[in-house]
Amino acid sequence: MISCSKCKREAVLRLDYANLDLCGRCFTHLFEKKVARAQREFKLFERGDVVAVGISGGKDSAALLYVLFKLGKKVGFELRPILVDEGIAGYRDESTKYAEQLCEKLGLQLTTVSYQELAGHSMDSIMKIRDDKNLGFRSCGVCGVLRKDSLNKAARMVGASKLAVGHNADDVAQTVLMNFLRGDAEGFERFGVVSGTSAQEKFVQRVKPLVYNLEKECALYCVVNDLPFHLAECPYSAEAFRGQVKDFLNDVEKRHPGSKFNVLQSFLKIKEKLPKPVENHQAGTCTVCGEHSSAAICRRCVMLESLV
Ligand SMILES: [Zn+2]
Ligand SMILES: [Zn+2]
Repeated sequence: MISCSKCKREAVLRLDYANLDLCGRCFTHLFEKKVARAQREFKLFERGDVVAVGISGGKDSAALLYVLFKLGKKVGFELRPILVDEGIAGYRDESTKYAEQLCEKLGLQLTTVSYQELAGHSMDSIMKIRDDKNLGFRSCGVCGVLRKDSLNKAARMVGASKLAVGHNADDVAQTVLMNFLRGDAEGFERFGVVSGTSAQEKFVQRVKPLVYNLEKECALYCVVNDLPFHLAECPYSAEAFRGQVKDFLNDVEKRHPGSKFNVLQSFLKIKEKLPKPVENHQAGTCTVCGEHSSAAICRRCVMLESLV
């Protein structure tokens, strides 16, 4: 028997980067401590906040909802889980069941919105039109734009002051590296643990409480805490570039444990030194849909017009 490095009970998992073998209880404690650290360092939530939580039925958002369920009791904020139905036959229907189960377990009411109702098209129909018309966009690119828009609208609908999303440390490290590899310096300015300011009227501030938790740890947290989650991958998820960066980071992490955190920490240090974005209350509204946008017509509306 391998014993827990903290309490000497039987260990159920090993974290190489920290050189720790842990039992379920000590691992849960460590996972939640990292979320508390994000809360402290980035001032994610305040007492009285109404927090919309984007959930999908997958492991990251299941871990997110549960950890915020516990944190909310301490800090004093309310949770409103929301789910975006992209309209992907055979995939979304299945994962929705897991999201519903989790909400039921926690006694939370789930609000569902869909691309169909908010953008006039399901993801399946958009992909069909793209192929018929030979349009150049990538599935994950389009879906990312529509998901952000839908989550923001749903968060507003449920009266949220914050929107929490399940991006973990792996996601953040991947995005940072992708920005480097693309030479996208502006990407660094836009991207962060907290996006937007509370002064923007139509944009609900978006926060990433799992920034210090690895993808693997989110899955372990779900298993150890008996949270229902769906394992299937989206049938359109073939964003080649992110996949390559992900494989590369996983390979480096295996040989040099702690590398993902180093990418993350470097990014946070650089970010700290960048000038803060100027708060601009009026500018930045899409002339078509009226939503928050840095361009005259937002990416969502440009994409939707190309389908007509
Ligand atoms: Zn222990
Ligand atoms: Zn627009």
